[in-house]
Amino acid sequence: ARIRVAVNGFGTIGKRVAEAILKQPDMELVGVVKTKPDYVAKHAVSSGIPLYTLSDRLDAFREKNIPVEGSLEDLLEKVDVVVDATPGGVGKEYKPLYERFGVKAIFQGGEKPEVAEVSFNTLCNYEEALGKRSVRVVSCNTTGLLRSICSLSRIAKIKKVRATMVRRASDPKEVKRGPVNAIVPNPVKLPSHHALDVKTVLPTLDIVTTAVVVPTTLMHVHIVFAELEDQVSREDIVATFEQTPRILLADASLGLTSTADLVEYARDLGRKRYDIPELVIWLDSIAVLGREVMWMQAVHQESIVVPENIDAIRAVMEAAKSAEETIRITDETLGIMH
Ligand code: NAD
Repeated sequence: ARIRVAVNGFGTIGKRVAEAILKQPDMELVGVVKTKPDYVAKHAVSSGIPLYTLSDRLDAFREKNIPVEGSLEDLLEKVDVVVDATPGGVGKEYKPLYERFGVKAIFQGGEKPEVAEVSFNTLCNYEEALGKRSVRVVSCNTTGLLRSICSLSRIAKIKKVRATMVRRASDPKEVKRGPVNAIVPNPVKLPSHHALDVKTVLPTLDIVTTAVVVPTTLMHVHIVFAELEDQVSREDIVATFEQTPRILLADASLGLTSTADLVEYARDLGRKRYDIPELVIWLDSIAVLGREVMWMQAVHQESIVVPENIDAIRAVMEAAKSAEETIRITDETLGIMH
């Protein structure tokens, strides 16, 4: 039988995860929960996605003639797993409800780590999530850091990591966030919390991070320094990044010199919403100085966590026993390049 899945919260992350579930041979999207009867709700219905809402919003949807199948509780009766993609901090409010319905829950990076039994990245700790009742897929920045760090640790023992995140100001659809014309140290008190988030998955790693926010909506960029226990050649580092699923090496000599170029390439590929679920590392940026390695990478914040959400569903249901097994299905169905 297919895994029956609900998505609660149908925003940037929720809509993408819902569409990814529709593409999985072993999953059924039973319904999504929307709070507002808006254009997104209308479009979901017209694309055949069963829509549910909160029990006190049913009338608001009826007034706008947007058909809903029932309430969140009605939906939870019918599923094995719920992907919570509500705004950061809201997921924990729903946790008792999910537990009451005996439904396994996948939370997002905007929640505190305590919300779930394990914080998760497929390449780093897939097996720790097997059979768990709740899993937290870490944030977009943390997912990007973990992909490259866990790739590098396949061939080297990492002594420490120091990284700076140049963060996008808002997602394209957000109208009230800034800055419009400034570079904002965020947080100004160093270090930033991103390292702590990496440690929820890799508790023993020596990592320190800093971050600034810049006026762009397209992607985040990370500048990463790692010190290794032993010297490793640039060739071997390039090879491990190349061979790791969900990592793409961008060739600046082909014109892929900025996040704008990466997004233009995604649009040329005809990718829906110009999504780039792969972590992009600039090939030319990878440099080795003795036991130090440095590189620059780009993270498409709106889509990078989508494959990990799909893998997390398989992990809690024990529907794939290894990271390799789930990655094969997820990446093929989502057209992830390698
Ligand atoms: P979003 O605001 O785009 O979407 C959240 C959705 O939940 C909206 O549709 C909103 O109407 C709905 N909602 C609000 N209150 C609700 C409630 N009480 N019950 C049900 N639904 C409710 O947010 P998002 O960017 O998709 O973020 C969701 C989570 O994913 C957060 O934890 C965030 O930190 C994390 N995340 C976001 C990004 C990103 O860049 N956007 C990247 C990775 C992880």
